[in-house]
Amino acid sequence: MIQNQNTKQMISFYPGPSKIYPQVREFMLEAYDSGILSSNHRSTEFISLSEETISLMKEKLNIPQDYTVFYTSSATECWEIIGQSFISLNSFHIYNGAFGKKWLDYRNRLNPNSSGHSFGIDEIINLEKTPFSTTTEVLCLTQNETSNGTQVSNTILTEIRQKFQESIICIDATSSMGGVVLEWENADIWLASVQKCFGLPAGMGLMICSPKAIKKAIKFGHNQHYNSLSFMTEKMQDFQTTITPNVLNVFLLNRVLKTIPNISEIHQKLKARKEVFLSLCEEKKLFQLSENEATLSDTVFAIKGTPEEIEKLKSEAKKKGILFGNGYGKWKNTSFRIANFPALENAEWGKLYSFFKNV
Ligand SMILES: *Cc1c(COP(=O)(O)O)cnc(C)c1O
Repeated sequence: MIQNQNTKQMISFYPGPSKIYPQVREFMLEAYDSGILSSNHRSTEFISLSEETISLMKEKLNIPQDYTVFYTSSATECWEIIGQSFISLNSFHIYNGAFGKKWLDYRNRLNPNSSGHSFGIDEIINLEKTPFSTTTEVLCLTQNETSNGTQVSNTILTEIRQKFQESIICIDATSSMGGVVLEWENADIWLASVQKCFGLPAGMGLMICSPKAIKKAIKFGHNQHYNSLSFMTEKMQDFQTTITPNVLNVFLLNRVLKTIPNISEIHQKLKARKEVFLSLCEEKKLFQLSENEATLSDTVFAIKGTPEEIEKLKSEAKKKGILFGNGYGKWKNTSFRIANFPALENAEWGKLYSFFKNV
C-alpha cells in the first residue's frame, strides 16, 4: 500500500470531506495515463468502466443483483431526485438532526405535501409514538446523522419496512454507506456521496434503488427533469448517465472497490475502533452528544464541550497533526466531530488514542 507522500499533511478526522484512501494518488495517475479522462461518456471505454464499477459495488457492499446503482453529483442531488420523481406523493420525514431536517426543507420547497416528525438524539425511534401522516407514500429517514453522531439500527429499519410495506422508503446513508453493513431490502432508495466512507475526493453521489422504486418512478412518469428517476433509469440500462458524469470519480471508485475487502470486514474494523473509543471516553470523561449508547453512530462521533474547551482541544490536536471536525448545525459551537471512516488506518487511530490519553 502506498503511504502518504506528504508527511506534513494533517490526519483529517473530519467527517466529510475526509481523509481519502492513500492509494488514490496512484489511481489518479493511472486514470490519467489510461486515457479514460478524455473518453466520451457514451464510448465503450466508459460504458465498460461503469458496468464493472457497478458490479464491484454490488459485490463488495452485498447489494442485491436486482437493485439499480446510479451515479449522481451529490447526496443533496439525490434528495432532489427523490422529491421531483415522486412529487405527487405525500412525503413523510423522520429526523433528529441537521441533515434530516434539511432534506425535509428542500422537499417542502418543491411541494408542500410533505411533513415530518423530529425525535430526540437520545431516542430510539418508536413506531407506536411516531405521528405518521395517514398517507405515508414516501418515507424519508437519515440512517446516520452526521451532524450529531447518531444512527438508526438495522432492527428499527426492519420494523419500519414491515409497517410500511407499500411505501417507498428512502434512506440517507451518506456517512455510513461504504463503512457499515446495510440491509438493502429494508429500503427502496439509498443515497450517499463518495467523500465520506468511500474515502474519495468530493463530487459524486450514489443512489441505489429497489425494483419497486424503479417501477413506481416509471409508473408515475414524472420526467420533466434531466435527473428524473425514470429518465435516469432509461440511461442506466446501458450503464450510462443523463449528464456527463464525474468520470475520474467513477474510475477512482472502481479502483478503490477493487482494493477493499467485503463490507462485513470493513464494518468489523470500524466497530472494534468504536469499542476502544467508547472506553477511552469513559476513562477520560468525554461525552458524546447523545447519552444513549444504543443510538451512537459507528462512523461519526460527536463529542460535546464548552466552546472554550473545544477550541483548546482542537488547537492542541492540530499541533500533533490531528484535525478534528467542527460541530454542525445547532451543535456547531458545543461539539466537535471525529470520523471513524474506513480510509483512516488503525495506526492513525492509534495517534488519536495517544493524544487523548495525554490530555
Ligand atoms: C454530507 C451529507 C449530506 C450532503 O452530502 P453532499 O455530497 O454534500 O450533497 C447529506 N446527508 C448526510 C447525512 C451527510 O452526511
